[in-house]
Amino acid sequence: MNFELGTLNFELSSYAMRENLSRGRVHADHGIPYRGLYQRDRDRIVHSSAFRRLQYKTQVFISVMEGDYFRNRLTHTLEVTQIARTIARALALNEDLAEALALAHDLGHGPFGHSGEDALNEVMSAHGGFDHNAHGLRIVDLLETRYARFPGLNLTYETREGYAKNYAAHDGSPRSRSLLGFAPDEMPPLEVQLVGHADEIAYDTHDLDDGLVSGALVEDDVRNVSLWRDVEAQVLAEDDTYKTDHRMRWHAIVRRLIATLVTDLMQETQRRIREQKISSLEDVRKFDGELIGFSKELNVRKRELEHFLMQRFYKSERVKKHTDFWRERLKQLFHAFQENPNLLPEDSRKRIDSGKESQERAICDYVAGMTDRFASRQWETIVNK
Ligand code: MG
Repeated sequence: MNFELGTLNFELSSYAMRENLSRGRVHADHGIPYRGLYQRDRDRIVHSSAFRRLQYKTQVFISVMEGDYFRNRLTHTLEVTQIARTIARALALNEDLAEALALAHDLGHGPFGHSGEDALNEVMSAHGGFDHNAHGLRIVDLLETRYARFPGLNLTYETREGYAKNYAAHDGSPRSRSLLGFAPDEMPPLEVQLVGHADEIAYDTHDLDDGLVSGALVEDDVRNVSLWRDVEAQVLAEDDTYKTDHRMRWHAIVRRLIATLVTDLMQETQRRIREQKISSLEDVRKFDGELIGFSKELNVRKRELEHFLMQRFYKSERVKKHTDFWRERLKQLFHAFQENPNLLPEDSRKRIDSGKESQERAICDYVAGMTDRFASRQWETIVNK
């Protein structure tokens, strides 16, 4: 590791997001002198009910079916946040903004992880579909109700932009930013760009840990992945304990893998910033491409690891038997509310009656807000009665 630590200070770089450059909040809001703009965004996110519900939502393993050891959406979110903060601080970017973005990045997930998202997208196909990024924005702009003067959390433009960044990546077109109401044809600040990569670093590494500990992955198979193999060799040379204690070995490999990915990302980003002569936020916004990213060499190896996780873990029998099961049940639950909207809570029914929302969107909002265990109990009482 030859990352230059000269940037480890508390002065922001010239291309970092600064509060005086923020595009601000939609609704005029009072300020508090001792708390910054993005600190307040962060606090609003942590105090939201959608954030608390992340603790009972699936990351990969369905939480009501598997043990309590494994990652859920909340612990995943915390891992993403510490990686994002580390990178932001080391690159002298705005750490408060990176933190707020990371804490908010998965708020839009429904119960049962990606299988829940697929189920909701399917039942909503004729009514505008369902996407966790678009839904995350809906939560922070509309569905969290805690202020008399405005709906939602009234977050800053830049924190909200996180959903557009990932939505755009998902959709494959930068112009899809405008579908969520953000200025098209410009790139988001570096803090926004980095959180998507912190997310990848977190799940690429913690999914190896969960996969191995659960037995869904076998160590000999994981050794086919070149990044794992190389890092394992470094770890074994470090201490003999790692040769005999497999749990200790996996922990050592996973933490070194995180460091390897983080270091490469920072070095490559610094290289791109130098090469492109980026010296202001405006340069970042105007630049046609991502400035935060991994080196070409590491990217190839990272994709190999992700392909392995997809084939051997996410699509494994162990994971699929539960996700397939809950995908069907969530659709059944949605249809049960469709047949009998009186089963919905009062505020969902009010939104339908006011004409502001289609019945389907209101049901989708309600079901997407459920935790795994609440959805499973609702299925028992409403569908399986
Ligand atoms: Mg995530």
